[in-house]
Amino acid sequence: MSVATYDFAIVGAGSAGLIAADFARKLGVRVALLERERIGGDCTWTGCVPSKSLLRVARLAHDMRTASRFGIGAHVPDIDMVRVREYLRSTIAQIYEGTTPAALGRKNIDVLLGPVSFVDAHRLDVGDRHIRAKKILVATGAAPAIPAIPGLTDVPFFTYRQIFEHDRLPERLVVIGGGPVGVEVAQAYQRLGSRVTIFAERLLAKEERRHRRSFRASFNARVSNSSESAFFPSSARASELWRVRSSRPSSAICSSSRRDDGRCSTA
Ligand SMILES: Cc1cc2nc3c(=O)[nH]c(=O)nc-3n(C[C@H](O)[C@H](O)[C@H](O)COP(=O)(O)OP(=O)(O)OC[C@H]3O[C@@H](n4cnc5c(N)ncnc54)[C@H](O)[C@@H]3O)c2cc1C
Repeated sequence: MSVATYDFAIVGAGSAGLIAADFARKLGVRVALLERERIGGDCTWTGCVPSKSLLRVARLAHDMRTASRFGIGAHVPDIDMVRVREYLRSTIAQIYEGTTPAALGRKNIDVLLGPVSFVDAHRLDVGDRHIRAKKILVATGAAPAIPAIPGLTDVPFFTYRQIFEHDRLPERLVVIGGGPVGVEVAQAYQRLGSRVTIFAERLLAKEERRHRRSFRASFNARVSNSSESAFFPSSARASELWRVRSSRPSSAICSSSRRDDGRCSTA
């Protein structure tokens, strides 16, 4: 049985794993990057890259609608979400290009794709390959947390893992979660033309007050800051709440993300 030996092995090739691998190579150590799915993690595929690309599209739509304030004829944009999705996919592909196994190989980072398992504190199997490493970093990231809202799992909804692959513009959208991810998605869809409602205990709680204020002003939509229990009484089911609170949105997205704590979806 051949065993490849490394100074440093990293499990998980998301932003954290990629940065750690790059840094380790700069220190001159032998690095293996182990990934069970695809290189790039949430940031490339379902996070930073598609969300910023969607915000760019949404900004353009907003500017077209409001161009008259600059003396330019305003237009109501015709939004083709299939083509928007193509654009998001193209920006993802551009970013991924720099982190393919071949690109990383050129930096002397060995990429091993496949299911990963520990044999002991210094040995790992990746599929049918065996490696040994002096130090191992686990950088396996997070997964969307599905909140315990009665009935939620009985109705269709998206998390950030699916929303950027959506190819239709919902007439109405409820975003559950008032952190940066929820707010980004809410603003993007609002600017594209959906009627958006955010359900959140607090809005942008960790951001500076002036940013909260400017978001509220520009979002120009109903932002309710009641507690979750007020929104989601234990006796109510999600489907009923949609009817009561928001005249039945056509879609919902849960935007909270949590480290694996037993409540996380692994979708
Ligand atoms: C919509 C959205 C927008 C965001 N925008 C920004 C932004 O603008 N700026 C910013 O800084 N951050 C942003 N973030 C946050 C950013 O995406 C995360 O902080 C970042 O992806 C975390 O990287 P990570 O490497 O820790 O985890 P992940 O990206 O989750 O990567 C973990 C990797 O580990 C792999 N893995 C998991 N389990 C195993 C296993 N058992 N074996 C092998 N591999 C495994 C996964 O397949 C994955 O590739 C955004 C997030 C979202 C959702």
